[in-house]
Amino acid sequence: MNEETKTKTKKNAAKKTETPAKKRIVITFKAEPGSDVCIAGSFNDWDPKAKQLKDKIGDGIFTADENGDITLINNTALDIFGANQEVVGKDLVYLTSDKSLAEAVRGCVVSHNNAIFEIVHGGKIFLVKVKRLAKTNLTMAVFSDVTENRENAKQREEFFANASHELKTPLTAIKGFTELTAINNKDAGINKYIGSITRETDRMLLLIGDMLKISELESSQNLFRAEITPILLSDILNEVRDTMSTVMNEKSVTFKVSGDIRGVAVNAEQGHIYDVVKNLVENATRYNNRGGEVNAVVKCKKNTVRLIISDNGIGIPPEEHARIFERFYRVEKSRSGLSGGTGLGLSIVKHICALYGWGLSLTSKAGVGTEVTVTFNDS
Ligand code: ADP
Repeated sequence: MNEETKTKTKKNAAKKTETPAKKRIVITFKAEPGSDVCIAGSFNDWDPKAKQLKDKIGDGIFTADENGDITLINNTALDIFGANQEVVGKDLVYLTSDKSLAEAVRGCVVSHNNAIFEIVHGGKIFLVKVKRLAKTNLTMAVFSDVTENRENAKQREEFFANASHELKTPLTAIKGFTELTAINNKDAGINKYIGSITRETDRMLLLIGDMLKISELESSQNLFRAEITPILLSDILNEVRDTMSTVMNEKSVTFKVSGDIRGVAVNAEQGHIYDVVKNLVENATRYNNRGGEVNAVVKCKKNTVRLIISDNGIGIPPEEHARIFERFYRVEKSRSGLSGGTGLGLSIVKHICALYGWGLSLTSKAGVGTEVTVTFNDS
């Protein structure tokens, strides 16, 4: 062994003893629906593999300790804020003066509150998620550049809003004139056609409303604009019961609510949670038999609340399970007439669940019934 190799070996030995014990941190982070960032393994700033990994991720990431000092930051985050590695070990103010970010990190460090919000920095829009990392004293912030998404979404939203307005106006007029004609008409044969026109215009209005909802959900801005508050599941279930009561009575379908219902709340925008529950209860009623049953059961466990909506209706054959969440997909074409639905209900449910990171699963057996479970993770 020559002198140079000996020195290298000594240096390496010294390095080995200096290296602190690796901490195993598993980070799973949903930056935006459909773009999960997942880092798993021994994750320390001195670990070359982790360093490579954190610097290759397109999203900006930093972690802060219990004093709010930065412990780790990747190159993307440094580029976003025009900073350098010297910010490591220092307070967040050395990185940015953004008040909402400082408040969110402080809130997570002190009270373990997770937060999702947007900031505008350097002419770009960033979706920021601040989250406490399980089993560590670290708070992590992830920055996803959503500038392009937001612009595309804005254009799409404007197009849908304009198109739906243009379609709604003549349809509402047709509906009004049809109702007037029905009042003045004595001919039973003609009244039959008028009834059909009214039903079809109502269906088109429903369809336009659902298409608008999907468009808004896809732009995903809604969640960040919306007011997310704790919503009592019992209130939502009562509201849905009231809305559905006529249809349920017509079909002699009974609706039972049970489980850990008292005082159980879910953090969401009221309209979103209502749409999820309403669409599921509506399907459980629509695709049920006369005299059938619809059950809503709430189950709580730690930070997780599960809502199970089940029915003993016509069920769905196994080969169709994967496709029924697609837009306009129906098990049988003939079912569209039977249901009076828009074919968009489950797609809306899926979009809302994705937006909040809620779990959604379905089990069903043709001729036996269907059970849909929504798992509201602590959001
Ligand atoms: P629709 O407006 O047609 O009800 P959805 O998106 O809500 O649209 O549902 C898609 C399809 O899935 C329905 O057309 C129906 O064939 C099937 N489906 C949904 N829920 C149920 C259920 N509880 N029981 C049986 N079939 C169902």
